Amino acid sequence: MVALYVYERMPTDRGTDRRSYLKALAAGSVVTLAGCTNTGDGGGDGGDGGDGGDGGDGGDDSTPTDEPAPQIVAGTAPGFPPFEIKQDGELTGFDVELFEAIVEESEYEFGGWKEFEFDALIPSLRDDKIDAIAAAMTITDKRDNAIDFSDPYYSADQSVIVREGGDFSPSSLDDLSGHPIGAQKGTTGESVIQEQLIQENKLEESNYNAYDNYTLAVQDLENGNIDAIVLDQPVGATFADQRAVVVSFVYETGERYGFGVREGDSDRQQAINQGLQAVRDNGTYEELRNEWFGSN
Ligand code: GLN
Repeated sequence: MVALYVYERMPTDRGTDRRSYLKALAAGSVVTLAGCTNTGDGGGDGGDGGDGGDGGDGGDDSTPTDEPAPQIVAGTAPGFPPFEIKQDGELTGFDVELFEAIVEESEYEFGGWKEFEFDALIPSLRDDKIDAIAAAMTITDKRDNAIDFSDPYYSADQSVIVREGGDFSPSSLDDLSGHPIGAQKGTTGESVIQEQLIQENKLEESNYNAYDNYTLAVQDLENGNIDAIVLDQPVGATFADQRAVVVSFVYETGERYGFGVREGDSDRQQAINQGLQAVRDNGTYEELRNEWFGSN
């Protein structure tokens, strides 16, 4: 595809240009340029020496640069079932399908997914690596200071999961005292451990294990390296269905998930809110909810 594009732009009237072109192509620089829409006039470089037609080329190439189709590139953190998961190498899940359906309803073009660890999502959004976050992200005051959120699209509490068939079955946060426990870095589950247990001197800091993602935490729980995990209830319930773990109790937090956009990006925020309303109105939201959580 890229090579074809380069070939089409290759000046054929002058041998030297053609050679330097092929050399650049071999070096990869043309491919890089051609792959980047706003430097598509790499093809014109060879022709700058004069023929009038090149001006026209530049005009053609600059059209998409001057008015790029407005895009939304979305970021997520897979390993959080059923919201974002990898299935046979493909990214899918409730958030993934919902967000794509929402963008479909808007005037934005969906620019694809980029994957990060959960705690890298907000910095990546702020650094323009992505335009939106769809990652079961709870709307919190602290996050709201760094980015903006869409209207809420899902509600959840926290839960505590333990090994299936084990003899540890806590029924309150206090019961976790003295046990090695885990959560995913930068999550509200981690905040519960820090604010309700460590800061209250109910858990030693050394008993808290912070993981890059919850899938790793569940492995450690199954292996007996930790005794419990604090995580969002719908995800705890899904791990309980799929792995050798059970939900021991639910800790009510009344969290609400929102899609993140850059601070001040009210255009995308509005587009997402309108798209969310549209998929609620046309039944898609309900369909996806049934597909990923059952009809309850
Ligand atoms: N809802 C939790 C949070 O926002 C966990 C999100 C996640 O791990 N993807 O912190």
